[in-house]
Amino acid sequence: MNWPKLSTQEIKLKIFEALGKNLNYRSELILGIPATYLDTEIFYDDAPFLKNAPFLSMLVANPNHIGCHTLNQEGEPIFKGTQQLEKDLIRLCSDEIFGAEPTTCDGYVASGGTEANIEAQWIYRNYFIEEFQAKPEEILLVYSQDSHYSFAKAANLLNLNSLVFKVHPDNREVDLHDLETKLETAIKQGVKYFIVNVNLSTTMFGSVDDIEKITDLMNLLHLNYKLHVDAAFGGFIYPFTNSESKHNFKNPYVNSISIDGHKMLQAPYGTGIFLIRKNYMKYVCTNQASYVLGKDYTLCGSRSGANAACMWMILHTYGSVGWTVKMNQLLDKTTSLCSALDEMGVEYFRNPFLNMISIKSKYISTEIAKKFMLVPDDHDKPSWYKIVMMPHVKQGILDTFTSQLSDELLYKRIQS
Ligand SMILES: *Cc1c(COP(=O)(O)O)cnc(C)c1O
Repeated sequence: MNWPKLSTQEIKLKIFEALGKNLNYRSELILGIPATYLDTEIFYDDAPFLKNAPFLSMLVANPNHIGCHTLNQEGEPIFKGTQQLEKDLIRLCSDEIFGAEPTTCDGYVASGGTEANIEAQWIYRNYFIEEFQAKPEEILLVYSQDSHYSFAKAANLLNLNSLVFKVHPDNREVDLHDLETKLETAIKQGVKYFIVNVNLSTTMFGSVDDIEKITDLMNLLHLNYKLHVDAAFGGFIYPFTNSESKHNFKNPYVNSISIDGHKMLQAPYGTGIFLIRKNYMKYVCTNQASYVLGKDYTLCGSRSGANAACMWMILHTYGSVGWTVKMNQLLDKTTSLCSALDEMGVEYFRNPFLNMISIKSKYISTEIAKKFMLVPDDHDKPSWYKIVMMPHVKQGILDTFTSQLSDELLYKRIQS
């Protein structure tokens, strides 16, 4: 993994250079496009600070990145400057962070992890239909009980059935026996094609599905499947904290990956990333998108070019070395909170490469949960409360939390 850290000045130059390559609504002959810069009453473009604010300048210029720009065809020439930044961003994510060989991946900046996950299911459904004449009832979405609800959404939208397998109640590991039993039942019922979704960090536990165990089982059963990795939460941290990760494109079974910029990367909302190996985007080409030069391959249609460029800016502000340091600092803070919990005898789940801790609910009073805004796995009947070590979580808050928790537990012990 290796990409450079750039100075603020260099980043500013790159962004304004990219904007300069886009056509400018103010100075070019643009008559046919139902789009323009942001409303000038509110977003006046002569505000003096804009000269030093590349992201805000991009927002005001309002480039549209509709379509998929990693495909080898011409996109809208109007926005080609900032679209090139998006291509660079996708390359950085697929090749540098997720180990793909050069020019073997496509991708785009989606509205979020939900869209990226749905895009993957949509592509594979159509792939099985086109290549194997699959009937919808012969295709099954496979994911664990800890998976994000976007997979249930996808199944509903795409009219496909789901196989939801169990995980171990304490260590949240894939229950292979349950998966195998359910696969065998599905096969008996005539299912022939499987869209398998593997978590690179679940939302609630920060647990990571053992990808090898899952692919070994699929291969042993000689099943026809495509595998998607949901790295919406873990994608910008896990590859930097675990160099042995198998959840990447070096693994031949991984075909696509979702990552969220608006979680660990601290980018604005609307910065999901969808990555997929080449020759798959074509399964969702909407030929009827005839007014879009290069057609549309995405779920969302029009989307913000500023958002794509913004992720490019964040990643180059740190460089690969700086980002690795930042993520490891979050990891250290998480580990030190775990040590404090260990001392108090509090039971919790934590993946050592991630910045999330799920504490068993019996240790957490409603007052503490409310005061520190811990998130329950189930608002009606909580079994776990999670803590996510995000950059805003400072040591002082952690100290207040641990001392209050320790007082409460001591008081409970005295009472009983
Ligand atoms: C947050 C999250 C999603 C969905 O992302 P949105 O950006 O909210 O659409 C999907 N999967 C996982 C594991 C997540 O943590």
